Amino acid sequence: MKIRVAIAGARGKMGQEAVHTIMKQQGMELVAVLDYKEVGETLGDTDVFPDSFTVPVFLELAHLHRETKPDVLVDLTSPESVYEHTKQALDLGIRPVVGTTGFSDEQLKELTAQAECDRLGCIIAPNFAIGAVLMMKFAQQAAKYMPEVEIIEMHHDQKLDAPSGTAMKTAHLISEERQTHAQGHPNEKETLEGARGADYTGMRIHSVRLPGLVAHQQVMMGGEGQLLTIRHDSFNRGSFMSGVVLSVERVMELDQLVYGLEHIII
Ligand code: NAP
Repeated sequence: MKIRVAIAGARGKMGQEAVHTIMKQQGMELVAVLDYKEVGETLGDTDVFPDSFTVPVFLELAHLHRETKPDVLVDLTSPESVYEHTKQALDLGIRPVVGTTGFSDEQLKELTAQAECDRLGCIIAPNFAIGAVLMMKFAQQAAKYMPEVEIIEMHHDQKLDAPSGTAMKTAHLISEERQTHAQGHPNEKETLEGARGADYTGMRIHSVRLPGLVAHQQVMMGGEGQLLTIRHDSFNRGSFMSGVVLSVERVMELDQLVYGLEHIII
């Protein structure tokens, strides 16, 4: 039996990539897309897909559900709509796979309780790049033995926040294994402010912003006479798609909400 998938946000940069990816999966069928604007009756009516794409477009999730009965809703929309979509999907018995960022802690708590009560799978993944998740996990494991750590994250120059969410998540995971302590020479002084980067429990985080970059991070761990470097590069949005596919498959086996791909990668 194929997994019946609907996508919200199909016209967007991530959504377009997800449409092509899901359509190529043998075990999945793209049965519908959810939009919030009148863009036509099928994906082919939008200006971003070929006319041959006959997947129907709906403006309401309840209507979409009545007509196409999806198993999974993949959400790649915006922080304004994602909570409502996820809640409605759970209400309707559709399993959400969410890549959109921007949930408040309270919303996550509510959705966790709802999924548990309904015994329904739900995956919310702020980073779908499997390699990035593995980088975080490996860095966390290594920090137990090599606790002198510096993180360098590198992104395109249109990125607004620094450090990146992935760098913060990496530092947080490492701090679960590494005792808080200052690094470098106890008397070190910055002759130019910021030269040693941001301080997270003594680890240093450096943010590089340059045109041409996409999303890259390396975690460096130094020890006596040795250096361990764990690096991940996302070169394009295709890097997120194996995580989307894995999540659609795994959400079918879950009966609760999982936050973060690291919890479903064994
Ligand atoms: P984008 O290009 O702006 O795409 C978002 C799409 O959603 C747009 O087509 C938008 O339409 C549509 N949309 C907005 N509200 C909607 C609603 N209520 N119902 C249906 N469609 C709606 O953004 P993107 O780069 O694809 O990113 C989408 C989300 O994924 C962002 O939150 C981003 O941070 C996140 N993201 C996650 C990962 C990950 O690994 N988890 C990776 C990259 C990005 P209009 O343009 O007409 O408003």
